[in-house]
Parts: sequence; C-alpha cells; structure tokens
Amino acid sequence: MRKKIVAGNWKMNMTTAEAATLVTALKADLANFREVEVVVCPPFTALATVSELIQGTHLDLGAQNMHWEKNGAYTGEICAGMLRELYCHYVILGHSERRQYFGETDAIVNRKAQAALASSLHPIVCVGETLQEREAGQVEAVITTQVQGSLAGLSAKEMLDSVIAYEPVWAIGTGKTASSEQAQEVHALIRQVLTGLYDATVAQAVRIQYGGSVKPANARELFAMPDIDGGLIGGAALDAKSFIDIVRAAV
Ligand code: PEP
Repeated sequence: MRKKIVAGNWKMNMTTAEAATLVTALKADLANFREVEVVVCPPFTALATVSELIQGTHLDLGAQNMHWEKNGAYTGEICAGMLRELYCHYVILGHSERRQYFGETDAIVNRKAQAALASSLHPIVCVGETLQEREAGQVEAVITTQVQGSLAGLSAKEMLDSVIAYEPVWAIGTGKTASSEQAQEVHALIRQVLTGLYDATVAQAVRIQYGGSVKPANARELFAMPDIDGGLIGGAALDAKSFIDIVRAAV
C-alpha cells in the first residue's frame, strides 16, 4: 500500500520571516498528522529556519534543487551534503521551470538524482509534457523519454526511494488542471514504463504525485485516482489553509 505524499513547492517565494509564519501555521494543524507524508520545500535561504521549526513534528523538509557534485568550484550552487546537514530528506529535481529556464536536461536530472540518492536524499523527479507536445499527440513519447532518461541506472532500491511527480507543463501555475482521467492515464503510463525498467512489483510500489494547479477544490478527485499518490503543490502551498485542505484531501 503506497502512502500518499503531498509536497509544497514554495519556489522563489517567502523571506525567512514569512516562511516561519507559514510553517508555524502548518504545524498548528499538521504536527501530529501521520496519514499522509507532508513535505515542505522552502527556498534555500529559509531551509535552516523551517528545519528548526519542524523538529519533533511529522512534517518533512525538502529542497527545490541541488548540484550533483559533492563540493567544489560551482559558484551559487548547493550540494546534497549541505541539504542533509539541515535535515532535508527530499529534493525536487527536474522541475519544468528548471528545465525551461536553466536548461536542465534528463541527463542532468539523472546525475542529480544519483547524487541525491548517494547522500540518502529522496529525489522527487518531475516529468511532464508541454501543451504543444500534448496537442501533437506526443505525451507517451515525451513522458517515456523523460522517465527513462531521468532515472537511468537507478537500482530497484534507489527507484523505491524516489518519488516521481507528473506535472503537465501547461497546468503549472496556469489554473488549468489536467482532468483526473488525463492525469490517471499518464500515471498509469509511468507505471508501465517502470515495469519495463524494473518489474511490476517496483512499478506498483513507487509513488507518483500529480502537480499542476492543484487546489482544495480539485485535490480530492485527483488523489482518488488509483495511480495518483498525492501532489506536488505550487501556488496553493503558499497559503496555509489551502495547503492543509489539500493535504487532508489525500486521506
Ligand atoms: C509546481 O510548480 O510544482 C506546481 C504544481 O505549481 P502550481 O501548483 O502553482 O501549478
């Protein structure tokens, strides 16, 4: 039985003070909540503060990116060891904004995933097609390529330690959500790809989140689909009540 996982991607939002206020509100409601795994992913600058505030709760900490090297002359970058030092357990990798604005390819995402796993961080690997690709009937090809490329070389154990987030690019921050049927179809496809790469047992055990304009009003229907194991939440994660409602919709 896969435990649902809901993660809040705060992106480049929240000063440290704002992050403290938001996480304090989340804690008031979710500190002892165990039915769903809840992960908050603040910007790097707020990780230490949020980490301290969630000590002793069931909230988990994630980062939004990392470099694949262990250290070195990579100005402006952050490595897995630095995230572990702050008690991060998750790291979002290959978000479409990183692919679009920072040129991240499947090969780069793969190096990062390998490095994260080598440091006992759970990668949340994002995949998703653009509107143009969907309209051209390329969803299956695009998703298959991204899953195979981003996860290349991971052992079955590493795969089980990873999470996949299906985030159609056209649904991110646009208010356009994939219908629950559209999302389920791609989640089922991802399990099929995982069956090919590993076996049916691994494919059935890996958690696959949906992301793209998830709101309290549509979360329950999406999370009720058989292959959707929770969500990666952007805009709605910046509001405590909305995020809490989405988390509770996953029960
Ligand atoms: C995201 O950026 O991962 C995301 C899903 O954003 P939003 O919920 O705002 O569409």
